[in-house]
Amino acid sequence: MVLKVPRSPGADSSGLYRRPRFVLRAKRFEDIPTILGKTNTYPSPVRIVGADYSQTRCVGGDGGTTVDSGSLDKIVEFGEDFVRAQAGVRIGTLVHALAERGQELTLTPEINQISLGALAVTTLPQASYTKGVAQLSSLVIEIKLITPQGKQMIIAESQRDLMRVLRSSYGLLGVVHEVVLRVQPLTPIKIDYQVMTLAEFNARFNDIVNASGALRLHISPFNDRITVERRTVDETLSTSRSGIWQIRKSVMRNVLPAFGSSVGSILAAPGLTSAVLSGVQRALRATIDRGSRGVVMYAHEWMRDLPQEAWKSRYTYSLWAFPQADFPKILGEYFAFCKAYYKEHRYRCNLVVGASRLHQDRGSLFSASYDGPMFTLEPSSTGEKGWDDFLIDFNDFASALGGVPTFNQTRALQTEHVNKAFGDRVKLFRALRQRTDPLNRLRNSYFAYLLG
Ligand SMILES: Cc1cc2nc3c(=O)[nH]c(=O)nc-3n(C[C@H](O)[C@H](O)[C@H](O)COP(=O)(O)OP(=O)(O)OC[C@H]3O[C@@H](n4cnc5c(N)ncnc54)[C@H](O)[C@@H]3O)c2cc1C
Repeated sequence: MVLKVPRSPGADSSGLYRRPRFVLRAKRFEDIPTILGKTNTYPSPVRIVGADYSQTRCVGGDGGTTVDSGSLDKIVEFGEDFVRAQAGVRIGTLVHALAERGQELTLTPEINQISLGALAVTTLPQASYTKGVAQLSSLVIEIKLITPQGKQMIIAESQRDLMRVLRSSYGLLGVVHEVVLRVQPLTPIKIDYQVMTLAEFNARFNDIVNASGALRLHISPFNDRITVERRTVDETLSTSRSGIWQIRKSVMRNVLPAFGSSVGSILAAPGLTSAVLSGVQRALRATIDRGSRGVVMYAHEWMRDLPQEAWKSRYTYSLWAFPQADFPKILGEYFAFCKAYYKEHRYRCNLVVGASRLHQDRGSLFSASYDGPMFTLEPSSTGEKGWDDFLIDFNDFASALGGVPTFNQTRALQTEHVNKAFGDRVKLFRALRQRTDPLNRLRNSYFAYLLG
C-alpha cells in the first residue's frame, strides 16, 4: 500500500519551488502502477523523488503527485561482478555494503545521498579513469521500470539505444524500481596534489591530462591557484590497513575540507563571507605540504554525509562541462570573467571552484562528455545574495564557450542553453517522450520548458 506523507515544511526553503498536491511513499514497487493508473485520485505530474538532493527543479511537484522511493531500500543480490538493488537504496549504503565484501563501484562519488533510481536516470559526472565510464549511470547494466501506462519493463545493457535514452530520462519515460550495477574488486587509490598558477597549469596541461588517473581540480580564480588532485589506481599497493591513511582521522578532517569539499566546519556561522574566503585559502596553503606526500585510500572512504535536507548544507554549486582541448583557454576566460563580474557587481563565489576531468562517455543521451573528453567547472557558494544573478551571467558565459549543462546540477538553465548543447539529441528525446507518454503523466513544468 502507498503511504501519504506530510509535505516537508522545509521543502520550499531550498529555494526550489516544488509544491506537489500529494507526497506518497511507495511501500512496494507494485504500488507504482496503481498510482500511475489512478489519474483522478493522483493528479499529474507524477514525479519520483529519491534522496531529493538535486540542485534544480527536476523533481518538481507542480500540484501533482510526488512519489518517494525511500521505502524501496533493499539490496537484492550481490554477485561476482554485479550488485542488484532497489531504486530507493542510497549510494552510500550500497558502497559501504560492497566494501565489506571487498568490492566497489568503478566510480565513487563524494556524497552518500544519491538514490540508485536517480543514479540510473540523471547526469552525475565524476572524475573518471577510463574512456566509456565518466558518469554514474554508465555503471547501470539493467533497469527495471514501470512505464507511464503502468507496464513493467526490464531493459538490459545489450539494448544499447534504449539504455542510452533511459540513463538520461529523469523519470520522464518511466519509474525505475530496481537496477543492476557493475562492480569490481576493492582497489586502493593513491591521491597526489600539486598546486600551480594558471600559467603553470596551462604550460603543463598536456602532461597533466596525458598521465594516468582521475583528475579533480580545486580552483581559486582570485588567488591564481589551481590544485591538481590526481587519483591513481595502484593494484601493486598493499591493501592492508597499515598502508592506508585512516580517512576519518586524516583526509576527511584535514585534506578534503581544505579544498572546500566539506564545508560544514568552515562555514559554521552566517555572515562569515570574508572569513570563509581567507579560511579556505589558508587551508589550501596549509594542505600543500601534507598533500605532496600523497594519500592512499579506498574510494568509499572519501564519501561523506550531507545534512538531512539538501538546503541545510548551505553549500550550493552549479555545473557545466567544457571540451578538454579548450580547457586551458576557458579557465583563463573564467578567471577574467570572475574578476570582471566582481568589479561590476561586487560579487564573487565564496568557495573554491571544483572541476573534474571526464573521459568520453556515450552511455547516456545527455552525457556531459558525449562528444569527447571534457572538464567540468563547478562554481560553488554558500548561496548568499548575488549568487543567483551570478549564475544567470555564468550560464551565458558557459554556453557561449561550448559548455554542456546537466538537468539536475546546472541551476537557472534556459531552453537556448539546452538546445545549443544537445542539438538533435533534444529533438530525439522529445519525440520519444511524446510517443511513450502522450498524456504527459510524468512531465512537469521544468522539463516542459527545457525539453518540450
Ligand atoms: C550539497 C550538495 C553536494 C553535492 N555533491 C555531489 C557530489 O560530490 N557528487 C555528485 O555526483 N553529486 C553531488 N550532488 C548532486 C546530487 O547528488 C544529485 O544531483 C542528486 O543527489 C541525485 O540523486 P537524488 O536521489 O537526490 O535525486 P533526486 O533529486 O531525488 O531526483 C533526481 C531526478 O531523478 C528522478 N528520479 C529519482 N528517482 C527516480 C526513479 N526511481 N525513477 C525515475 N526517476 C527518478 C527525479 O524525478 C529527478 O528528476 C550534490 C548535491 C548537493 C545538494
